Amino acid sequence: MATTNDQVRRIARFRSVVISRYDDGSWREQAACRDVETQLFFPVGTSPRSQEVVDVAKSICSSCPVQVACLKFAIVTNQEYGVWGGHDEEERRILRRKWRNLGTPIELLADDKTQPAAS
Ligand code: SF4
Repeated sequence: MATTNDQVRRIARFRSVVISRYDDGSWREQAACRDVETQLFFPVGTSPRSQEVVDVAKSICSSCPVQVACLKFAIVTNQEYGVWGGHDEEERRILRRKWRNLGTPIELLADDKTQPAAS
């Protein structure tokens, strides 16, 4: 089924409302990655070198005071790429399914990097 312009506008409006609800911008000011090269959090590919970069990014996230807020934003706004809130893309996909399908609060999922969502 094709998406109409009206549907696109409604989706964009919905996203904007969701983003404004979860992102007042204040958490970004305390981000541990604020002065770190952005590429560190968005490595290209799945090579061993890329995985090393992901691990470095996650280590920065582990001491970040706004990790949960960052993760929440990434899950709610469906950020597909990069490391957010100490979680890589696949880890966030799992958390997002749990949040969406089971209604588990993201705060409770923040430390969960291994358990797949129940089907
Ligand atoms: S949790 Fe990681 S990606 Fe998110 S703001 Fe903190 S350091 Fe940056």
